Amino acid sequence: MTTPTKPLPPGSAAGPAPAGGRPAPGESLHSPVIDWFDEHARDLPWRRPEAGAWGVMVSEFMLQQTPVSRVLPVYEQWMARWPRPADLAAEAPGEAVRAWGRLGYPRRALRLHGAAAAITERHGGDVPADHAQLLALPGIGEYTAAAVASFAYRQRHAVLDTNVRRVFARAVTGVQYPPNATTAAERKLARALLPEDEGTAARWAAASMELGALVCTARNEACHRCPIAAQCAWRLAGKPEHDGPPRRGQTYAGTDRQVRGRLLAVLREAHGPVPQAALDQVWHEPVQRARALDGLVADGLVEPLADGLYRLPLG
Ligand code: SF4
Repeated sequence: MTTPTKPLPPGSAAGPAPAGGRPAPGESLHSPVIDWFDEHARDLPWRRPEAGAWGVMVSEFMLQQTPVSRVLPVYEQWMARWPRPADLAAEAPGEAVRAWGRLGYPRRALRLHGAAAAITERHGGDVPADHAQLLALPGIGEYTAAAVASFAYRQRHAVLDTNVRRVFARAVTGVQYPPNATTAAERKLARALLPEDEGTAARWAAASMELGALVCTARNEACHRCPIAAQCAWRLAGKPEHDGPPRRGQTYAGTDRQVRGRLLAVLREAHGPVPQAALDQVWHEPVQRARALDGLVADGLVEPLADGLYRLPLG
């Protein structure tokens, strides 16, 4: 039986602070996690060499709020249709929204289209390798820039998605869940945990993310299969219950997001302008329905035309 002990402060489970040749924070975590990854990583299409930086970028947009199983078929179709950024940029933004299908949060499709257009105009159609140039692309935030630079170009960046944040919260900070939104302290910790060597840092980023996705999951962490169980601060502390603010739920039924999804599905399947009456069929509550449609128009996902017609955006 595990004897509960006090949670360790950030970095302490990973070894002492770097000074005078002592191991850097995180050093004791790197090898076990990377070795585990070498053996257990899923063979995902965006991890294969042929995916290139564009494949990595497309996958990162899609995976941000959607599980791998739902992303896989859409990703394959997307890359077959638009194998280069210029291929996507040459089409109307509405085609990106249509191909996005039911991945949810469809503004990501418009943002990916905008990034493809900027890559074509500014970088001759090649996804830039430079982190600052990636960050300057429309629709690309800190996370995606770091992920593309790390996964596609093997650079040294802290790549903090929800899976990595959960692993660090448990293994290093000794709490069950990270805060609801990424904090400066988490970024600092992630940077401190990065291996010095670029290639190893890129491997670590992918490996720690995969560990969170497959082993250190949100609800059923599989500590018996975890390569860092012996040094995990939260496990060694006896797994104290989360005592932070309530975690954000993922309710969908009855929300404006659900109504927006239904409205967009009608437009995606129509292949042409749709009358208001067809949209009115999708939701019984007129105020919520109008609010959802207004939101789609304001977000540039739907274009209103004359005579009460609507379509996906042409440009
Ligand atoms: S030991 Fe358990 S809680 Fe700790 S990192 Fe591994 S899976 Fe997560």
